[in-house]
Amino acid sequence: MGGLNPFGAVTGADIAAAAREYGAPLYLYDEATIVAQCGAMLSMPNAYGLTVRYAMKANSSRALLQLINQQGLQIDASSLMEVRRANLAGVPLDNIMLTTQEVQRGEDEQELQRMMLQGLKFNVCSLLQLRRIAPFAQQQGIDLSIRLHPGVGSGESASRNTGDHYSCFGVHLSDLERAQALAQEFGLRFTQVHVHIGSGGDPQKWQENIDRELELLERHFAEARSVSFGGGLKVARMPGELEADVEQLGLYAKQRIQEFYHRTSRKLRMEVEPGTFIVAGSGYILTEVLDKKSTGDQGFQFIVAGGGMELNARPLLYGSQHPFYIVSPEGELRWSEFGDMPTNGYEAIVVGHCCESGDAQSLDDSGRALPRPMREPEVGDLLVIGGAGAYCASMAPFNYNSHLQAPEVLLQQDGRLRLIRRRQSLLQLVENEL
Ligand SMILES: *Cc1c(COP(=O)(O)O)cnc(C)c1O
Repeated sequence: MGGLNPFGAVTGADIAAAAREYGAPLYLYDEATIVAQCGAMLSMPNAYGLTVRYAMKANSSRALLQLINQQGLQIDASSLMEVRRANLAGVPLDNIMLTTQEVQRGEDEQELQRMMLQGLKFNVCSLLQLRRIAPFAQQQGIDLSIRLHPGVGSGESASRNTGDHYSCFGVHLSDLERAQALAQEFGLRFTQVHVHIGSGGDPQKWQENIDRELELLERHFAEARSVSFGGGLKVARMPGELEADVEQLGLYAKQRIQEFYHRTSRKLRMEVEPGTFIVAGSGYILTEVLDKKSTGDQGFQFIVAGGGMELNARPLLYGSQHPFYIVSPEGELRWSEFGDMPTNGYEAIVVGHCCESGDAQSLDDSGRALPRPMREPEVGDLLVIGGAGAYCASMAPFNYNSHLQAPEVLLQQDGRLRLIRRRQSLLQLVENEL
């Protein structure tokens, strides 16, 4: 095993080289993994065509947007600003769909309409959004997509379940009649039905959603030509976790869409919107071991890493577990979460360097620190956090304690390291303060 884990190409030598060249903490992404995940999605079995949209909120870094768009994926944006950002990176507007909680007004609304004239797809998520866009869509003859709230969801944690009645994403089924009356009044067509039930959930729930969504589409949307099953394809970050089987889910969807055709003579195109699945496994956070402490005989061993919640807030938000690796400054892989490496009975709580008791990378889902078995590192070793390509750089409260936003580095397929985001400077941290 040359790499840190069985899935990626990243080695201890790459980790040490990146830290030496750009300084820890930093994010390192493995291009080969991203390309492979894009390929896996694009070859998902389907009946009458497939569009794969990358949910860019998972990781909105310019170089990654370009790489992923070049592989043939389109973009799912969660805000008008994300649309602008993807477009600025060179993604054409007709490769982007906006699915948002926002309600655009004033200049933003006019810009949204201009973008729609250039091909931006709009996914209606509320009655108010529909009311505001209806006169424009009518005038221009633009078809719409509609995000339905199915009343059932799935997620890695309660807060990541977007489908149950504690969350308000999409037009709830109880509002469906009103939405359709409004569409009829303006002569609008919903040519796509969309459901996204949540992130990181049970693959079984994802499969069940296919049936439920096709049933809704058949009953209520005579003009739909496309069905989007959303994102939420789970990846296994930790050893032993269950990963979504894209091939199997695709075969299932294909069969259901073919049966739909036989009942209705309508051939539906399929869309999927993976964020996590594309980038999660590609990312590593490189931090330096700053200190080791203990809280006595009855207490715990602690590793103080030079980066934590301000780089990866997922443990704090969701109790997520990420794999750890320990690499010497010379590039020797001293410990990996994968493969049976000896721990000699050592276990520790990995904390960051923020003045915040929740700043730990090992928390259980009630937020309590959780000691993790590993080999004891030396101060100065690199503590590497895996599974960090999605919802880490894009989501973390990076300026807390006035830490500077960390650089991002891409390990290219040719083996070379490329800086894709510089470290923020102190001047940039304060530049807008008056
Ligand atoms: C976040 C999101 C996704 C992606 O979810 P993942 O779990 O990262 O795959 C897809 N679609 C929509 C509408 C989203 O909000």
